[in-house]
Amino acid sequence: MTTTVRTRVAIIGAGPAGLMLSHLLAQSGIESVVIDQRTRDEIESTIRAGILEQGTVELLDTIGPASRARTVGHRHDGIELRFEGEGHRIDFADSVGRAVWLYPQHEVLKDLIAARLAAGQDLRFGVTADGVDDGDRPRVLARDADGVPVEIEADFVVGSDGSRSVARAAVAGARNGSFREYPFAWFGILCEAPPSSEELIYSNSPDGFALVSQRSATVQRMYFQCDPDTDTAAFSEEQLWDELQKRVPGTTLRQGPIFQRDVLRFRSFVANELRRGRVALVGDAAHTVPPTGAKGMNLAIADVRLLAAALRAFLLEGDERLLDAYPDTASRRIWKAQHFSWWMTSMLHVAPDATAFDRRRQLGELRSVVESEHGRAYLAEAYCGWPLDA
Ligand SMILES: Cc1cc2nc3c(=O)[nH]c(=O)nc-3n(C[C@H](O)[C@H](O)[C@H](O)COP(=O)(O)OP(=O)(O)OC[C@H]3O[C@@H](n4cnc5c(N)ncnc54)[C@H](O)[C@@H]3O)c2cc1C
Repeated sequence: MTTTVRTRVAIIGAGPAGLMLSHLLAQSGIESVVIDQRTRDEIESTIRAGILEQGTVELLDTIGPASRARTVGHRHDGIELRFEGEGHRIDFADSVGRAVWLYPQHEVLKDLIAARLAAGQDLRFGVTADGVDDGDRPRVLARDADGVPVEIEADFVVGSDGSRSVARAAVAGARNGSFREYPFAWFGILCEAPPSSEELIYSNSPDGFALVSQRSATVQRMYFQCDPDTDTAAFSEEQLWDELQKRVPGTTLRQGPIFQRDVLRFRSFVANELRRGRVALVGDAAHTVPPTGAKGMNLAIADVRLLAAALRAFLLEGDERLLDAYPDTASRRIWKAQHFSWWMTSMLHVAPDATAFDRRRQLGELRSVVESEHGRAYLAEAYCGWPLDA
């Protein structure tokens, strides 16, 4: 027996993109149904992104006190680029007068879920979409946790269902998209230790890249460059600390028990189409970036801001112009972010086939960024995020 639900906007995926979209639509009085295949607990405990652009934090402010980004998160006014054993601070405040916030994605999701449920949002966990039927009244074909079919009929369907999107087939079809693979990945750890530095350190070393990041006064997140096929169990804790430490010469890492480890493979991807008829894609469903520039979640939020405005005009005034413009408008920022993420990745990692020339050129590139006011400003502007309205 199929359960049929009718709504104005059906949103597949309760990640940052889907939840923020339902919030922005609700602000204009537009009702939506959000489904997610995972349980609330799984969503709220998966460790992913950690850096919020200033514009993302400002948009989160609109959910009111439920957003703890400014109270629990930490404002960072700079990062350090480290190479040849020396640190070089990129001062965001000085270069562009902006900042980022260190506030983990799962905390953002806890805040958004709490705010959406408090507002009476129809938010269904454990409901998996199998596909989308396009048309004037598009439908999401799904099933609940017991396998009972659920059909959501809407004026518009949004695929915010992440990098393995099922909605993408209804929009981008078999043509799918353009992508680039990278010959390395990140080995990530969470450990119980005090911070090794106040700000993030992006370190390039002859042994590869490492990122020293923080979570709180007692928990730290760090990554080092590894082979994409690395087995997380292949290293003892001591070996993991050795791998990290040799990639951050000049700073003594403060060690502690490692309680989580993962390998994060990355690639750059952009779907060929972001909208077809009454179905559109946002966030990782539309594009993915390597994590080096901290753009993924922020880009998802930027898409949503554009799409929410377009859906408002379409659903409340019957004006389709912003919706028609959405793929081009969103693509401008997406490709800037693709470039920045690729650039940070290629500048900081050591490719397995790098020659002596490649290595010296890379150091020249790093020097031309840190020793130039304009180089530092470009990095600071992109890292803190271009204005959301641009
Ligand atoms: C380790 C790591 C570190 C990262 N660091 C950063 C960072 O510092 N800064 C940054 O900006 N980004 C970072 N990112 C990227 C960021 O996490 C993603 O870009 C972001 O989660 C995208 O949000 P989204 O809402 O588009 O997709 P997702 O967060 O992937 O959400 C999609 C949701 O859809 C659900 N779903 C999927 N398929 C279905 C289906 N068929 N039916 C129903 N539900 C479905 C999923 O369960 C999920 O909850 C990082 C990612 C990783 C993995």
